[in-house]
Amino acid sequence: TRETLKSELRALLGVLPGADRRDDAADDRIAVSHEETGKLELYFQTIHRVSEGNRASGAEALVRWHHPKHGLLTPDRFISIAEEGGLIEALGRWVLLEACQAATNWPSATFVAVNVSPLQLRAPGFHEEVGRILYETGLTPSRLELEVTESALIADSGHVTASLERLRQRGTQISLDDFGTGYSSLSHLMQFRIDRIKIDRSFVSLLGARAEGAAIVSAIVSLGRTLGISTTAEGVETDAQCAFLAAVGCTDLQGYLFSRPMPLHDLQRLDGFSAISEDRQEELLRIIPSKAL
Ligand code: C2E
Ligand code: MG
Ligand code: MG
Ligand code: MG
Repeated sequence: TRETLKSELRALLGVLPGADRRDDAADDRIAVSHEETGKLELYFQTIHRVSEGNRASGAEALVRWHHPKHGLLTPDRFISIAEEGGLIEALGRWVLLEACQAATNWPSATFVAVNVSPLQLRAPGFHEEVGRILYETGLTPSRLELEVTESALIADSGHVTASLERLRQRGTQISLDDFGTGYSSLSHLMQFRIDRIKIDRSFVSLLGARAEGAAIVSAIVSLGRTLGISTTAEGVETDAQCAFLAAVGCTDLQGYLFSRPMPLHDLQRLDGFSAISEDRQEELLRIIPSKAL
């Protein structure tokens, strides 16, 4: 079924809007109809700022595959398939485009976080690609946060660091996802300029369960504070975890306690993310005198 999923995903990416700049892998796509492959959709999970009374300040894009046979597939079922099948660049490009497009409809104080695969990050031209998507969607670069993992930074020839640094200089935020689960975390923090640490859910889930949890989490938060880096706790599920994280100075919180990943339509019904409809935009353009624009 792995091979089947791979060819279905290949077909799917071949017909997706935004995947029109095809790479070699997508070129040899086989003809599989939409009914057979289903469709991809971005879900979004809110991220909450402790200093603003846990108000939602941004959202992380999490890709889903509505599969006609297997139902709703989460990324753990197909990201590695995309990676080994040479499809991750096309998938990543689609995710970035969709996420940036979505965020242009949210209030300007919000941000969108997008996961980037190590392979995608290492591909030549990655930062130009991001630049092009920002330009095409019109999203302010600082409203995009790229989530990278330590594995993407290991064995870097300098190319990945340089490309991230160029994006950073234009204002795009870089966060280190699943912090603490990779290798030589501390040396990476010193070597690469990042804006945020995402504390892996495996540590957050220890809070309240095992004594080490509190020690590990507060150590990561104070490391972040010392380095002037924001910290987002992933997988916050209980009020007690939330209270502890706020008390030790964690800056942002994400998890089922606040929201589950949801379709864009549902996100935009929430307070901080309501979209301005196209009708309303046109109406506003009519009421605002042209010389004021
Ligand atoms: P991640 O970036 O660490 O994302 C957080 C994962 O934790 C998400 O799983 C989310 O649904 C889940 N989660 C959030 N809050 C809670 C909670 O309170 N409790 C529990 N038990 N889980 C929680 P998801 O959506 O299945 O994504 C899994 C991973 O797949 C992500 O981990 C990310 O590394 C990867 N991924 C997702 N979307 C993309 C994408 O567009 N591109 C790439 N390259 N990777 C992606
Ligand atoms: Mg992430
Ligand atoms: Mg991750
Ligand atoms: Mg994570």
